[in-house]
Amino acid sequence: MTTDSLIPWSTKLAEEVYGLNQWGADYLSISSQGEVMVQLPTEAGIREVSLLDISEGLRQRGLEMPVMVRIENLIDGQITSLNESFAKAISELGYQAPYRGAFPIKVNQQSHVVSEIARFGNRYHHGLEAGSKAELLIAMSMLDNRESVIICNGYKDEEFIDLGLQMRKLGFKCFFVVETPAEVPVIIQRAKALDVEPYIGLRLKLSTQVDGHWAEDSGDRSIFGLSVTQLIQIVDTLRDADMLSALKLVHFHLGSQIPNIRNIRDGVREACRYYVELINEGAPLGYLDLGGGLAVDYDGSSSTEGHSRNYSQEEYCVDIVETVKESLDPLNIPHPVLVSESGRATVAHTSVLLFNILDVSRFMPTHEPQAPEEEDNDAILNIWTAYQSVSPLTLQESYNDAIYYRDRVRDLFGRGDISLRQRAYAENVSLAILQKIVKLLPSQKRLPVELENLPEQMADIYYANFSVFQSLPDAWAINQVFPVMPIHRLQEEPTRRAIIADLTCDCDGKLDLFAHPDGAKETLPLHTLKSGEEYLLGVFLVGAYQETLGDLHNLFGDTNVASVRVQPDGSIEYVHELNGDTISDVLSYVEYDTKELFTRFRKTAETAVKEGRITIQERQKILAAFKDGLEGYTYFER
Ligand SMILES: *Cc1c(COP(=O)(O)O)cnc(C)c1O
Repeated sequence: MTTDSLIPWSTKLAEEVYGLNQWGADYLSISSQGEVMVQLPTEAGIREVSLLDISEGLRQRGLEMPVMVRIENLIDGQITSLNESFAKAISELGYQAPYRGAFPIKVNQQSHVVSEIARFGNRYHHGLEAGSKAELLIAMSMLDNRESVIICNGYKDEEFIDLGLQMRKLGFKCFFVVETPAEVPVIIQRAKALDVEPYIGLRLKLSTQVDGHWAEDSGDRSIFGLSVTQLIQIVDTLRDADMLSALKLVHFHLGSQIPNIRNIRDGVREACRYYVELINEGAPLGYLDLGGGLAVDYDGSSSTEGHSRNYSQEEYCVDIVETVKESLDPLNIPHPVLVSESGRATVAHTSVLLFNILDVSRFMPTHEPQAPEEEDNDAILNIWTAYQSVSPLTLQESYNDAIYYRDRVRDLFGRGDISLRQRAYAENVSLAILQKIVKLLPSQKRLPVELENLPEQMADIYYANFSVFQSLPDAWAINQVFPVMPIHRLQEEPTRRAIIADLTCDCDGKLDLFAHPDGAKETLPLHTLKSGEEYLLGVFLVGAYQETLGDLHNLFGDTNVASVRVQPDGSIEYVHELNGDTISDVLSYVEYDTKELFTRFRKTAETAVKEGRITIQERQKILAAFKDGLEGYTYFER
């Protein structure tokens, strides 16, 4: 299923090669013109737009590549599908309480994202989760639906607690999830002082262990959650203060991106045991908060592999509702409201990072090798012979010769026995031999082990206009794989295989693992560049966690960002445009005073005038270029 396939190329085959039917969650397809199309829910039904059209609209509005595009309809789509899936499971299983979502603000704090969740989520009473004072202030101003929940996690000081209590006064269902026993006396004391009943939740430390990258968030050594002895201590403290009636919620969070549904079931079952016991202790409860963890199928493989999940969203909802019901019904305990704090699954789909390719470096001969002079060095004559004798029957031998004589020539060069031209000749021939071998590999029944990875080793490097550190921090920090593909020209067969290098001169600044349903691939099929036409690629599913974790490596700043919304008539509305950082912005982040930089540089230029190196007119031009540079984009501009 690569470009070596014998099936003729088609846009249908392109869908398989890139796997977008699997990881695209029904939102993506390829048009007959070879463009990536996004199917979006609107009030008047599904509308389809081309990502290339969106990028063209952005370019006309002055937002150059790279640009982070947020498609608001996709937030609506995910909120709908999460709430409808829970509603369906609840009604089919006869569960007696509703579902209430709470979006964890940390997953994407951008105001347009949070306000869209609050606006659209209103119809489902979708709430917000805050892990700090700053996030609580966001939740306080964004939500106006008193049926929605606000969940306060994280360590809370008196000010944090007072803010939450004020929300209780205003009639909001604002819960303090207790992370440490030390918070409890403060909550009791401030609630009495402000004369309002708090809503208190307890964060459990479950022994259920989960698979995947966040395995350590679960189990005994988790840094989060209350131990059993702490739970008892808190119940007693509340009872002594005559506030056990405030204990309304049980919370657990097993970790993010849980790939295996069995872990989720186990966690819910264990949490239900605590729920029952806390009821027996006399707490009223009424809410069970399942935290986050609903995974995104980044590679489309539907597996228990860390970048995937072995369950659908429907199955997740059914399993949770069923497990809670089965645990509580035999004891006649009323069903709690189910709360979940799904972040990743709610917003990953909404953002696509679009970027252009600036250049390609190929491990290809620069020209067809010609015979050397008869009296040339033996190593040179031998590598030429090796080139002429490559055949399907002698691939390993040809490979050995190419490497042996190339190294021999390098050695001779090092000792001063051959010239730079002779060495260039040999390097070119050795590349030609290796490429001949790569071409012949698909015809082989069995590959010699040494040649298995040759296509990857000979892959092109496509130089891309973005920074991994700024825009895809998880790709670097935790080896997260994201789907990457061209957004146009897909009616043409991609004849090259490549890895992608970013603009930073850091050897980690690259993408060399690409999400695919058959398992991550080390190279990506790409098209050759056409002169005079930009080649545009997209990195998909980047709406969760990527935007604020990014850093300023090599002083590449925030990219341009645009929010778009597709209207019921199918037109694209450019709701919000945000220019990325200028060079002057990023310099100020690291404490440079750009005025002072300019003054210093002006002195240098003035000295050059005095010394007669440049004219005053030239000085003015140079200074203008310096100023323009400061106001420019940190990325490559054409
Ligand atoms: C990070 C976090 C979440 C979000 O998890 P996702 O896997 O993105 O859904 C939810 N709750 C808590 C307490 C968290 O720390």
